[in-house]
Amino acid sequence: MKQQICILGSTGSIGTQALDVIRQHSDLYEVYCLTAHNRVEQLAAQAHEFKPASVVIANETHYERLKELLADAPDIKVYAGASALEQIVEAAPIDMVLTAMVGYAGLAPTIRAIKARKKICLANKETLVVAGELITKLAIEYHAPILPVDSEHSAIFQCLVGEDMNEIEKILLTCSGGPFRQFTADQLATVTAADALKHPTWDMGAKITIDSASLMNKGFEVMEAKWLFGVPADKIQVLIHPQSIVHSAVQFADGGVKAQLGVPDMRLPIQYAFSFPRRLRLDGPRLDLFGQPLAFFKPDLTKFKCLALAYEALDKGGNMPCILNAANEVVNAAFREGRCGFLGMADIIEQTMLRTTFEAAPDYDTYVRTDAEARRIATELL
Ligand code: NAD
Ligand code: MG
Repeated sequence: MKQQICILGSTGSIGTQALDVIRQHSDLYEVYCLTAHNRVEQLAAQAHEFKPASVVIANETHYERLKELLADAPDIKVYAGASALEQIVEAAPIDMVLTAMVGYAGLAPTIRAIKARKKICLANKETLVVAGELITKLAIEYHAPILPVDSEHSAIFQCLVGEDMNEIEKILLTCSGGPFRQFTADQLATVTAADALKHPTWDMGAKITIDSASLMNKGFEVMEAKWLFGVPADKIQVLIHPQSIVHSAVQFADGGVKAQLGVPDMRLPIQYAFSFPRRLRLDGPRLDLFGQPLAFFKPDLTKFKCLALAYEALDKGGNMPCILNAANEVVNAAFREGRCGFLGMADIIEQTMLRTTFEAAPDYDTYVRTDAEARRIATELL
């Protein structure tokens, strides 16, 4: 029986690479459902190729257009809207849900998928940033496995295979450093979104590429690692590693360090999340360790204030990471649209963290309330 996969965000960077994996292993995997936000033509083309049982376009204004584009494929059910997206993950035939949509919008459908006891292949890290405690609790309660897709977390996960009984002494979380690694504070003041979108080693969606340039992405990944692997933040060390070859490592009680290495290619972690514990063939360039020396540096938290703010939010706990995430989504979009400077992003996030109502023991409704309040405050501050 082929595994049935639902892809939330199939038109994005992760989504399209996941479809490439499925294309190469069509004997093992089948697409049950594809979803996108706005790119209706691309979604229809994917549906024509993969023939899913259903498609969902989150932005309802594109519904008629999508129906029209799929008029020649009457077997494919077409839905629209955020609630349709939340419902579709519960469909009985689905084995795995790949959460490859961007931002806070991933939270509600991920919760629904966990409650429907689906295997979660988690790319949408914002879900764990906002509500890591709730998500991990629900995953245990509903016996829903969460397989990491983020390259660093997949690397850590791969290092932990066979180590169930052994305590983690330290996680070594690597980070390319982004395009501004060697910039001075003065240079950072004038960088534009176009500069930030030129990532040196990874080709990703726009939002995460900006987060990688500000190192907010690495702050999010520290939180993601904490929840996925149950390791406190003080045992997670960030290392700037410009080559993006060591995807992360784990140090154990005997001082032994296991790392996962490879050329930067997101198809590997996506495929591993699908196929675990099996490894499947993946064509592409292979690692040449003679090619370049590997270097590691400490991150500069004064220059990259977003990373410092993420540590602060993690330390504070409660709904503070949710506040951090909401403010970041607002300033990230504003920076891309030229309405906020690069350094202004951290200032607005910091102010939003100070002004939004803090709650020490949040539940789901708290996250919804907090997200709305923090977005309003960050938008006013802009
Ligand atoms: P992307 O912008 O390329 O694609 C996002 C996808 O989500 C698109 O299909 C879009 O239609 C959909 N989407 C966006 N907003 C939505 C909404 N409100 N409702 C429904 N669908 C929506 O993003 P990406 O780079 O593929 O990243 C996706 C997620 O994976 C992010 O959470 C990101 O942090 C994470 N991630 C990405 C990479 C990477 O290499 N791209 C690596 C690690 C983690
Ligand atoms: Mg990553």
